[in-house]
Amino acid sequence: MMLRLFNTLTRSVDTFETIEPGKVRLYTCGPTVYNFAHIGNLRTYVFEDILKRSLCFLGYTVNHVMNVTDVGHLVSDADTGEDKMEMGAQREGKSVWDIAEYYFQVFRRHMDMLNLLEPDLWCKATDHIAEQIDLVRALEQKGYTYTLADGIYYDTSKFADYGRLARLDRDGLMAGARIEMVEGKRHPTDFALWKFSPHDKKRMMEWDSPWGVGFPGWHSECCAMAMKYLGDEIDIHCGGIDHIAVHHTNEIAQSEAVTGKQWARFWMHGEFLVMAKEGPDDNERMSKSSGNFITLDTLVEQGYDPLVYRYFCLNAHYRSPLTFSWEALDGAVNAYQRLKAHVIELGSQMCAAEEASHIHLDQFRAALEDDLNMPRALSVMWSLVRDPNVSGPVKMATLRAMDPVLGFNIEAMKRTELELDQDIQQLVCQREDARKARDFGQADLIRAELLARGYVIEDSPEGPRLKRSSPCN
Ligand code: AMP
Ligand code: ZN
Repeated sequence: MMLRLFNTLTRSVDTFETIEPGKVRLYTCGPTVYNFAHIGNLRTYVFEDILKRSLCFLGYTVNHVMNVTDVGHLVSDADTGEDKMEMGAQREGKSVWDIAEYYFQVFRRHMDMLNLLEPDLWCKATDHIAEQIDLVRALEQKGYTYTLADGIYYDTSKFADYGRLARLDRDGLMAGARIEMVEGKRHPTDFALWKFSPHDKKRMMEWDSPWGVGFPGWHSECCAMAMKYLGDEIDIHCGGIDHIAVHHTNEIAQSEAVTGKQWARFWMHGEFLVMAKEGPDDNERMSKSSGNFITLDTLVEQGYDPLVYRYFCLNAHYRSPLTFSWEALDGAVNAYQRLKAHVIELGSQMCAAEEASHIHLDQFRAALEDDLNMPRALSVMWSLVRDPNVSGPVKMATLRAMDPVLGFNIEAMKRTELELDQDIQQLVCQREDARKARDFGQADLIRAELLARGYVIEDSPEGPRLKRSSPCN
């Protein structure tokens, strides 16, 4: 089977083909580092991590670039309101640079806790001001821009295909334009490419440009950096669903206006995490402004393993909304603990390096190839773990083969729960060899030796199992 992925551009599950054989150029919109990422934001990064891990599992080489938004993201999508970064700095009485560095490092720590692979390249908006200016200049030369009192704007009526990604009805938008508008904006969808610093206030972050001192618009950074590091044509561009209508639509309008080529082949978007509320139809998006704001550290303070949250996310398809409640999270705790218990039990049967179960691995691969169907991949994992016809070592080998995608740290589960030293493992193997050679005297001697060291060995149809001995043994 071929990998098939849902493409927001076509609204269908399409066969994935790369520009360069075997290589994927992947760009994922990164965090705006003015506050903690909440677990809703993190759900999107878990989806992107699964995408990247699945691509690697399926044999692709992935070049993954992620940005860090440390300037220019205004509170409102309509190019009004304050810069989120400057707001964060005021709130905490720190410099914008300190805020950016602090929250970026927290974000990386959270990525690590969730076992999210880091991108091959991080790029910060503030390190790429020149590239953004060049992009705006190129748009200006091609006649896509106009100047207002507060900045340089993109004239969306000049880009014939504007809004294709979001299926925007431009005429409808024009007729019923009620959204908050910057004075002089020609069309409601026009957006700022470069904003001028206010005359009466010095911004903490501002730069010279051919148009005056100011700062770049948020939609230019991803465009300029992704094109710099991945090229004029890329394979996949990702983000959360809220990015479809404005941010990604405006990225396309810039890159494709400049190059005349289709920019990203696949646009992939993760659905939102919503907060469960009283009524069944009363769910609410988790957002920083609503006060419904839970971070990964909150979960840890409540006693949850961060990887339980990873499991929780994998249990829903990335294109389905996921409702967060503590009860639902407890469901993931149970499942994750059961998995851990199985792994620990299986981990004590580590004599032979067995091959993985190809039947299960094939089913697992098929689930990934079917638009990253992780709930199905997890159910394949559980059918493996529960299959009485698969031996313990084969189960372990298969779980190990699945873990590069699942990212549950299967190896660490074994190590932390049962600190088996080399000697103990060797004794288990020697006893297994003795038993197979029907040298039961020797096998019993080794069993006694293990007991003296605090381990009980039990034989099961799946192989020997090791447990810590209780005072009664
Ligand atoms: P931000 O740091 O605000 O730019 O957001 C980071 C990422 O989180 C973006 O890809 C958003 O689309 C995504 N996002 C924001 N809110 C949620 C949510 N409640 N659930 C899932 N993803 C979200
Ligand atoms: Zn972006």
